[in-house]
Amino acid sequence: MSQGPLVIQFAMRMEAAPLLAAGHFQPISLSVPDHRYGFLIHQGQTRLGNEVIVAIAGIHPRDQVDSIGTLSAGLLTHVLISQFQPRMIINAGTAGGFHARGGQVGDVYLGESPVVFHDRRVQLPGNFPRFSEGHRPVRHDLELRQALGLKAGVVSSGDSLDCTDEDMKHLLRLGASVKEMEAAAIATICEARAVPLVLLKSITDIVDDHPQSEGLSTEEQFLKNYSFAVSSLIAKLESVIEWYSR
Ligand code: SAH
Repeated sequence: MSQGPLVIQFAMRMEAAPLLAAGHFQPISLSVPDHRYGFLIHQGQTRLGNEVIVAIAGIHPRDQVDSIGTLSAGLLTHVLISQFQPRMIINAGTAGGFHARGGQVGDVYLGESPVVFHDRRVQLPGNFPRFSEGHRPVRHDLELRQALGLKAGVVSSGDSLDCTDEDMKHLLRLGASVKEMEAAAIATICEARAVPLVLLKSITDIVDDHPQSEGLSTEEQFLKNYSFAVSSLIAKLESVIEWYSR
């Protein structure tokens, strides 16, 4: 296995901000012309003194918003692996949870294998259905999960924040506990390049109906719960980094 650095990959600047603010970090540039994509890379030490690279999909140069979703995530992972040969990537971020699976706002999940896509449906003969759904492996250490009191669950990715009836049907069929927009893309690259991937996802909104949602849409819940969910994420993330730095 590579002796390279531990890389923490985020989709949004707001998700990475508390980790960066608590530690000591410097912005660094990539060897590829990354300004074309808006990737933001930092190198330094976490609050607990562990050396990491923090990579954020960053700001789309034209639209000036966070480059969320599978395309930027997979591209960033490819670039990170090519430049740093990381010994592991930790993809940390926010996500939707499911009341039916015991999920609550602020829960932090350690992703289980396989990580899937719920919005890629290709009913052609052969392996197309399975290929489209991803089914990629992730690293899931039971000892780590128990030590940090994390929840275990299947993470499913798609390129929309909302959840159509069709999406919901496939999320249920795939056994997803966590709905977000990057993990399965990152896992596809990590599998191809043999880099272990850990998924750490904090719940900002409940996707299925629940009194806790108070009739709020996914977007409204997300905005209301964001800071709470991000603080729970960062507390756990610092400990996960410590665990894999020993
Ligand atoms: N920037 C938007 C919110 C984006 S939320 C705003 O301010 O309104 C989308 C990001 O959070 C993605 O990176 C995704 O991985 C994650 N996410 C959180 N809740 C989600 C959900 N219910 N469904 C899909 N992605 C979710």
